[in-house]
Amino acid sequence: MMTRRSPDLRPDAVVLRCAACGDGQFQETNVEGRAFPYRDERALTLTQALLLPVCTVCGEVRESAQHAASLDRLLHAAYVARRAAQTHELVAQLTAAGWRQVDIEQTMALSAGYLSKVLRGEKLLAPSTFRHLIHLALHPREALRDLAPFFPQSRDIESTLERRGAFAASR
Ligand SMILES: [Zn+2]
Repeated sequence: MMTRRSPDLRPDAVVLRCAACGDGQFQETNVEGRAFPYRDERALTLTQALLLPVCTVCGEVRESAQHAASLDRLLHAAYVARRAAQTHELVAQLTAAGWRQVDIEQTMALSAGYLSKVLRGEKLLAPSTFRHLIHLALHPREALRDLAPFFPQSRDIESTLERRGAFAASR
């Protein structure tokens, strides 16, 4: 025979204790502004509001499949925006020195127009490619010369940039 459950016996009414501190309980809390590991970032700050179960005592976030997809989607958006802004900053350093975007793309073995897509947040640079861009922006001439024994075409890029005065400031 079917019995009617009383409301306080619902399974989701079970109190979960926090495993991290053994003391607190979880409460839906806005975690905007908190940092999470994502891809090659150890601490990526969440820039949008999201309610997650957070321990009221120690602040531990309870990971659950139910919330994982939304957290992942928002972290991905924050990651793409952060990379686009950083790429913009590095590319601007090079273009201010006389590089064209196509010079950067050729040096970094990217297809033509790829950087524009990254700057618009439509594409992501692979983590290793992004690290290469950092070195290129900081030490453009050295980066080209380091490449030359392996990719002789980087000498052509260097002499084109030389004629355009791209290295004048670093002399
Ligand atoms: Zn806790």
